[in-house]
Amino acid sequence: MLEGCTPWPEKFQRRYREAGYWEDITLWRMFEESAAEFPDHVALVFEDQRITYRELESRINRLAVKLVEMGLQDRDRVIFQLANTPELVYTFYALMKIGVIPVMALPAHRFTEISHFAKHADAVGYLIPDKVRDFDFRDLANDVAAAVSSVQHIIVAGEANDGQASITDLIGSGSDDSVPDDQASKDLGDPSDVALMLLSGGTTALPKLIPRTHNDYVYNSRQHRDLAEVDATTVFLALLPMAHNYNLACPGLLTTLDCGGRVVIATSLNAEKVFPLIEKEGATIVPAAVPLITKWLTSGMAEKYDLSSIKTMMNGGAKLAPELRQRVRETFGCTFQDSFGTGEGLINVTRLDDDDDVILHSSGRPISPGDEMKIVDENGHEVSDGKKGELICRGPYTIRGYYRSPKNNATAFTEDGFYHTGDLVSRRDGNLYVEGRIKDLINRGGEKISIDEVENHILANGKIENVCIVAMPDPQYGEKACAFVRLKENMDITFDELSAFLLGRDIAKFKLPERLEIIENFPLSPAGKILRRELRRMIEDTLEAEGKIAVSREIDA
Ligand code: AMP
Repeated sequence: MLEGCTPWPEKFQRRYREAGYWEDITLWRMFEESAAEFPDHVALVFEDQRITYRELESRINRLAVKLVEMGLQDRDRVIFQLANTPELVYTFYALMKIGVIPVMALPAHRFTEISHFAKHADAVGYLIPDKVRDFDFRDLANDVAAAVSSVQHIIVAGEANDGQASITDLIGSGSDDSVPDDQASKDLGDPSDVALMLLSGGTTALPKLIPRTHNDYVYNSRQHRDLAEVDATTVFLALLPMAHNYNLACPGLLTTLDCGGRVVIATSLNAEKVFPLIEKEGATIVPAAVPLITKWLTSGMAEKYDLSSIKTMMNGGAKLAPELRQRVRETFGCTFQDSFGTGEGLINVTRLDDDDDVILHSSGRPISPGDEMKIVDENGHEVSDGKKGELICRGPYTIRGYYRSPKNNATAFTEDGFYHTGDLVSRRDGNLYVEGRIKDLINRGGEKISIDEVENHILANGKIENVCIVAMPDPQYGEKACAFVRLKENMDITFDELSAFLLGRDIAKFKLPERLEIIENFPLSPAGKILRRELRRMIEDTLEAEGKIAVSREIDA
C-alpha cells in the first residue's frame, strides 16, 4: 500500500475478500465492464452534449495515453479540482486507469488549502477548470506551482495558458470509435492500493486526506446499487460537486456508470434551471442537501413542471428535519432517502421501503453487513439502545488511518481500528438517529467548517485579541458560523473588514463567518475555558429577538 497509509490488518483483508466485499477490481475495470455491456447507452448529458459509453471510454483512453506520455506515473498524486463537466469524468477515470491518485479538492478551495494538499501529498500535478464565474483557476495554479516545487503539470479543462496543458487537446480529435492500444490502455491500478483521496470534513486546522482503495470504493459504490435502486434506466442528476463522496459514489457518478445508467450534469442549482432539466431529461434520482431542498420547497416552482420522473430525492451532508422530508414527498411525489455518512467510510441510508416513521425521522442504518458500529460514552463504554453516545465504526470501506497523519490517527481511531465519527447518535430498532456532535465544526448545510482553522485565521488579525466561533441556527442552511470577537484596546472592526481580511488569506469563501459579534468579555468556566454553549445561547437569543429564527434548543445538543 502507498507509503503513509494504514492498511487493514491481514485478518480483516481475508474476511472482506471471503465475504465477497472486496472483488479485487479497480474503479477503471468497473467502468470498462459497464462500457462493454452498454456501449450505445448515453452515459453523460451536459448542456447540449450527449456522450455514449463508447465515446466516453474512447476519450478516457486517449487521455490516459497522453497523461502517461506527459510523465504521470502509477502512485503519483495530483490535486483534482475540476468542476462538474464531462472533463471531470474523462480525467477521473483516466487517472484510475493509469494508477495516478487524485486528491479530490472542492471548487471553493483556494491557495491556502490547495497548496497545503499539494505539499502534504507531494503532488506532481494540478487539474483545474479554466474559469468559474469570475475566478481564474489558471492564475491560482501558477501560484501553487510556484510555491510547491513538486507540482510540474497544470492540466486545464477549457482554455490553457502557456505552460499548461488542455484536456481537450490531450484527448485530441481522434475517432470516438477506436480505443488506442498501448501502454496506457492497460489497467495499471492495483485494487488493494489507494485509488483516490477524499478530504475530511474534519476539525483540524486543515482538512486531512482520506485514502480510499479501489477495493473499498468499488464496494462503497456497488452497495448503493440496490439500496438506491440504480440500474440501466437510472437518470442521476449531478448537482453537487462530483468530486465529493456523496455525488461520486453514494450512489453518485461511479454507481450510475457501473450500471449502464445516465448522469445528467446540472449547471445551476436554482429551481428555475433544475426543474426544467429534471422534466426534460426525466431524472429519476435527485441527490440534494439541506439548503437546496429548503430553497426548492419555498420556490413555489415545483407545480409548474412535470417532475413525475423523480423516484427518489436524497438528502446528505446534514440533518433534514422530518417536516421537510414529508414536504419533499408531497411536493415531488417521490420517495425520500436520507444518507448519513462520512468520507472516511461508513454510510447509513434509510431503505426505500422503510416505514414512514423511519424514513421521516431516522438517519438510516449501515449499507454493509460488514460495518461494525458502537455507540459509546466518554469512557468508551457502549451505551444502551435509545441512549446518546458517540458513533464509532470500522468495516470493509472505512479507512484505518489518514494519509501521513500519525498524530491525528492516534486520536481519530481506537487501538482496534474504530473511527471516531465525532457524531452523537442514538439507535432504535437498528436505525440511527443523529442527535448532535462532539466535534468542533460548523455544518453549513453539508459544508463543513473547521472552527479551529478559521479561528486561527482570525487571530492573525492585528486588531483582534481573542475569538470564538460558534454555530448559529439558520433556516436555510441549518447552521452558519458566528464569530464572537474580543478586540484589542482602542480597536474597532466591522463585519466587512473582517470578511475582506479572511478572503485575503486565500481560503474557501464558505468558511467565512456570516455574523460578527463584538464582545467585552467571554463567558468563562471556573477553569477559565470559554463557554461555547453560552455563546451559542446568546446568538440564538439575539436571532430570536430579531425575528430571524424560532429557537430550537436541540440544535446544539
Ligand atoms: P463529510 O465527510 O464531509 O461527508 O461529513 C460527514 C459528516 O457530516 C458526518 O460525520 C455528520 O456529522 C454529517 N452528516 C452527513 N450526512 C448527514 C445526515 N444525513 N444527517 C446528519 N448529519 C450528517
